[in-house]
This record gives sequence, structure tokens and C-alpha cells, in this order.
Amino acid sequence: MTAAEEFAPAKINLTLHVTGQRADGYHLLDSLVVFADIGDRLWLIPAAQMALDVGGRFADGVPRDNRNLVWRAAELSGQSLRIRLEKNLPHGAGIGGGSSDAAAVLRFCGAPEHAPSLGADVPVCLSPLPQRMQGIGEELAPVAVPPCHLLLVNPGVDLPTPEVFKALEQREHAGMGPLPRWPSAAEFTAWLAAQRNDLESAACRLAPVIGAVLAQLGDAPVARMSGSGATCFGLYENADLARAAARRISAAKPGWWVQPAAILSGALPAAG
Ligand code: ATP
Repeated sequence: MTAAEEFAPAKINLTLHVTGQRADGYHLLDSLVVFADIGDRLWLIPAAQMALDVGGRFADGVPRDNRNLVWRAAELSGQSLRIRLEKNLPHGAGIGGGSSDAAAVLRFCGAPEHAPSLGADVPVCLSPLPQRMQGIGEELAPVAVPPCHLLLVNPGVDLPTPEVFKALEQREHAGMGPLPRWPSAAEFTAWLAAQRNDLESAACRLAPVIGAVLAQLGDAPVARMSGSGATCFGLYENADLARAAARRISAAKPGWWVQPAAILSGALPAAG
């Protein structure tokens, strides 16, 4: 095994329906998951001892030992690696930074079978293509999604996923039903606008600033929270509209993370 660079794209839940809860406490989900052309970067080299160095804009607060999912992914794969992780994605943010990093390590190690034991979002992160995710994250099916332009906005609050699930008032909602084919981006947008993120109201109660983020994205045909928040996305008709909204929101809220992104529909962008 030789050294490699891996890209760990941001995961975005375009929809997230909570359809039930199992006796063991795990929630059942029905979610349309896509990946963005922005994300973390990892450099991996086989080494005599595990070592992890974390840099990048969001390095603060990311564990540098075996609490980090990249470390655990390498250990589970039976590999000893020197890893440099560039955290470009906010953490505890609902865009799966840790899960995507862990999946990148499993890809490098050729050990995808360990994904479910690292977290419900890790299996979906093994592939960068749009997927429907059901069950507790283990039922995956590819979905053809038209090209989309997103704006991701995070107001800088770290929202732990278990707390959001704990704050849920209703734990059983309808799923998405059979997915239609979308002949155009406009039809996809209209369908998406009628879907939901069932965690949004609980997350907004815990972090009311999420309501302000959604209000800032109010000019988008679809504005919704991803995962358990606090990152929200706006879906725009083209890249220019997404960039114009990014400029407006960055000027109004200089402390927020505001990032235009396109949805990946093929192979991961070349490393480097
Ligand atoms: P999800 O969308 O899967 O719910 P999230 O965005 O809410 O994910 P993560 O970015 O995965 O959350 O981080 C959650 C916590 O996991 C962090 O606060 C951090 O303590 C821990 N963690 C472990 N490994 C990593 C990693 N590689 N990157 C970021 N956080 C990590």
C-alpha cells in the first residue's frame, strides 16, 4: 500500500424523514443524500505507528487521538497509518465531516465492511454519488439527481446529533414514498420543496439561530437544514444565483460559514 491523498466530500441530506425508532433506540430514516464538491482532505501513509495531525480552518476541537473516526477506521481495518487531516468542513454541523473522513480511510484501506460499526452515516459516505438512505443507514440505493447548485450556510453552533434526536417531539413520520424520475431540474426542485427534514424543528428549538439561517436562504426555491444541523442549504437554479446569495449573506453575517457548492454526480474530484 502506498501513500495517497483522499477527498472527503461534505454530505448533504436534501431530505431527512424520521420514519420510526427501533426497540434498541436507533432511529429509522428515509433520506436523499448527496455529496458536494467541497470537503476535507486526507493524506495517508502506511507507518509503523498510528499518528494523526489535524490542520485547516476547522481543526480546533477535532480529536487527535483514537476518538477521531479516522483513527478508529484505520484501527478497525488493521492498518497503522500516518494521517494528515485538513478540516475544511465545520464539525458537529450535520454535513457528515467525521463520517466522510472515516469513509475515506476505509476506501484507502480497502475495508468498506467496517463502515456500519463506525456510525450510521459512514456507509453512505463510501460512495460520492446521490443515494437514498433508509433503515438505520445501511439500506442504500443510487438515485439519479439533476445537476444542482447549493449554498451551504453554518452559523457556527456545534449541535450534537444525539441531543437533536432527544429533543424530537414525534418519532414516526411518513417516508418519501416511491421516488419519481425527474426529467428536469425544475421538476426535481418542485418535488424537493414538498419534502422535509423532520429534525429541523427540534434543532431550531435547541439553536434558534437556525431559523435565522433559513430566513437568510429565503430567496432559494428550497431552503432546508441538513442532517441534525446546524448547517442549512439553499438550492439555486444556477451557480450565479448561489454566488450572489453567498455574497449577500457573507456581508450580512460575517461570522457565518457560507459556501457555494455543486452536487457530485460522478467520480470524486481528482486529488491535488
Ligand atoms: P453527521 O452529519 O454525520 O451527523 P456532524 O456534522 O453532526 O455529522 P461530525 O462533523 O462528524 O458531526 O463531528 C461530530 C463530533 O465527532 C465532533 O464534535 C468531534 O468531537 C468528533 N469527531 C471524531 N472524528 C472526527 C473527524 N474526523 N472530524 C470531525 N469531528 C470528529
